[in-house]
Amino acid sequence: MADVLEIIRCSNFAAIKHKDQRRKDEEKTPYINHPIGVANILTEEAGIADVAVIQAALLHDTVEDTDTTFEEIQALFGEEVTGIVKEVTDEKNLPKLVRKQKQIEHAPHASYKAKLVKLADKLYNLRDLNRCTPVGWSQERVTEYFQWAHKVVEGLKGTNQPMEDSLQQLFKERNIV
Ligand code: NDP
Ligand code: ZN
Repeated sequence: MADVLEIIRCSNFAAIKHKDQRRKDEEKTPYINHPIGVANILTEEAGIADVAVIQAALLHDTVEDTDTTFEEIQALFGEEVTGIVKEVTDEKNLPKLVRKQKQIEHAPHASYKAKLVKLADKLYNLRDLNRCTPVGWSQERVTEYFQWAHKVVEGLKGTNQPMEDSLQQLFKERNIV
């Protein structure tokens, strides 16, 4: 029961933080669909029931994309969740291209729990790109994103077979090997 309460508290916090944000698709899907969907991939597809991982998945974009601080997460959700969220958060002050390169370099050195969140995040975003092209994106940009994601996922190998198999299938469909 305590776990359920923690997860609801986390979902509520993320929903409040992301309330004014939308995804980049035409329909402007509420942003919170993404962190909830990432957590759902972990529970439904990856077979993960670790509460800290699920909480970190729900919170994974709060610091990167909203005014949330690590101090806030630490105070509300504790050390372990904060540690995972830190590992999956890009440094906001760095240029986009550098951030993308750092994700490739850091992936192999991440902890097991952070790797799980990273895999689920990539899987969700690639499925989202297959579902519909974000507003203003060319097909080249979509392809570049898949190629970059492939490089990150290469560094996450040996973490979770179901998610890695699903990702591999998506890369295969685009002839990325
Ligand atoms: P991204 O290219 O990183 O945008 C993708 C991110 O947006 C995802 O990782 C995801 O992050 C989030 N997102 C929101 N909605 C969706 C959705 N519907 N589908 C998939 N992902 C979604 O960021 P930027 O837009 O900031 O672009 C920066 C990069 O793009 C640069 O590296 C630049 O090189 C490249 N670029 C390429 C161009 C081209 O034409 N080739 C043109 C312009 C830029 P999250 O998980 O955090 O929500
Ligand atoms: Zn994300």
